[in-house]
Amino acid sequence: MDMTIRVGEGWDIHALVAGRKLVLGGVEIPYDKGLLGHSDADALLHAITDAVLGGAGLGDIGTLFPDTDARFKGADSALLLAEAMRQVRTAGWTLANVDCTVVAQAPKLAAFKPLMKERIAQILGIGPAQVKVKAKTAERMGPVGAGDAMEARAVVLLMRSAPAAA
Ligand code: MG
Repeated sequence: MDMTIRVGEGWDIHALVAGRKLVLGGVEIPYDKGLLGHSDADALLHAITDAVLGGAGLGDIGTLFPDTDARFKGADSALLLAEAMRQVRTAGWTLANVDCTVVAQAPKLAAFKPLMKERIAQILGIGPAQVKVKAKTAERMGPVGAGDAMEARAVVLLMRSAPAAA
């Protein structure tokens, strides 16, 4: 059987401001600031969304869910990721694994990594063993290191048993 595999990558950054809930990897994290954006601004889920769409050659989060569309104002990014993954599956792809990193100076995210892993697996319809969430600081450099933003990146591996369309 011929197996086609594709790698997908995604990256995102959002400003960190007072007066917003902090949601990362679909998990609400207690903190005195949150990420600013049209949706709930979950940078980690956005990076994963772009990674699965990119691997499948299906465009990106901005074309599927434009931030000019009022329907996505305050949107739960878990619903956006679930819809993107539905389209990826419909196109014939199976998700092998997700590896992602959050870069944040504060708060400490270590205690939330297992929750994010479980939640991301649930949204994607895969097992927790197929998801890896890493967290690190920016060593106090740049806007992320100054606590003014958070960044996330993700890579995924997609497989299908038939050749991909051109
Ligand atoms: Mg985003």
